Amino acid sequence: MKNIVAAILCGAFLLTGCSAEKPDKVASEAHSRDIFAMDTFMTMKAYGENAEGALSEAAVKITDLEKLLAVTDPESDISRINSGSGSAVQVSEDTAAIIEAGLKYGEMTGGALDITVYPVLREWGFTTGEYKIPTNEEITSLLKSVDYTKVQLTDDRVEIPQGSMVDTGSLAKGYTSDRVIEILRENGVTSAIVSLGGNVQSLGLKPDGSQWKVGIKDPFQPDSEMCIVSVGEKAVITSGNYERFFEGEDGRVYWHIIDPSDGAPADNGLVSVTVIGDSGLMCDALSTALFVCGTDKAQQIWRSEQSFDMVLVTDDHRLLVTEGIADSITNISSMDMEVLSLD
Ligand code: ADP
Ligand code: MG
Repeated sequence: MKNIVAAILCGAFLLTGCSAEKPDKVASEAHSRDIFAMDTFMTMKAYGENAEGALSEAAVKITDLEKLLAVTDPESDISRINSGSGSAVQVSEDTAAIIEAGLKYGEMTGGALDITVYPVLREWGFTTGEYKIPTNEEITSLLKSVDYTKVQLTDDRVEIPQGSMVDTGSLAKGYTSDRVIEILRENGVTSAIVSLGGNVQSLGLKPDGSQWKVGIKDPFQPDSEMCIVSVGEKAVITSGNYERFFEGEDGRVYWHIIDPSDGAPADNGLVSVTVIGDSGLMCDALSTALFVCGTDKAQQIWRSEQSFDMVLVTDDHRLLVTEGIADSITNISSMDMEVLSLD
């Protein structure tokens, strides 16, 4: 349901002047494609004469990537890696690139991103919807198999220890939107915007030359937005505690981003993290990882990398934005916006 709302909200922002009745502006004619893949609603909008064919090609790529990455499809690259044989498995170039990035951002964030957290996630029921609160013993035992540094990637071969499992859910959609934008560009499209379950990425500017407006949801009221960010060609990707969660018998709320250091839903002071940058893959990986890191560590990583901007919301209702994006944000929430500066 939340994803549907995201798709509709996003769609609302993408509705720019369709020029079907103005034949002199064919270049700005809008073409769109909606598909359901990777467990989420995806909308793609592209402008100009090459858009239709390009969108078809992009849709095929999304389906292909889904087949490679689905943890639940026994034929997928990921399932073959997870089959438990403990030996090296040959995978596609796409899978290898995603795993390589998973390991890179795992290292950059001190293990906050750990693509081997899957057994713990599964025990909580986030993979099936049959939610439960695992016992401390169960978590301690499962955490023994969680360690991204044990994943060995050599060219197109991946090897993990027996008992470990990988899952690319934290960064697969970002990789996918990078590929979609690349396909649109290669087909001569110069203006497009896609939303893969609320993960937004754009190509060029809007056909009228203005910037794209992307809404970021209010984590305390996920049916409405807290701010609108104006961007050129960027990825704008959010991880929030409201995206998938359940209420336990103890009355507490548990969500789908796991802190690999203790195997529990990450509760380090942040309820929403949006990362804005040039690469969908980077933004998706970091949005999940920085959510785990919490405010201070997220800022440290932002300062040392200086390759992205971010919008953070803390559990005590603070809205923090980095200086590179602050002027492009319209705050429509009841929170005051605080700007994080580099010095
Ligand atoms: P969404 O898929 O809801 O947009 P994210 O990009 O934040 O959200 O990814 C969340 C997914 O990442 C989870 O559903 C799970 O598959 C996986 N995951 C959860 N915690 C971690 C973690 N610490 N490191 C790597 N992957 C994680
Ligand atoms: Mg992510």
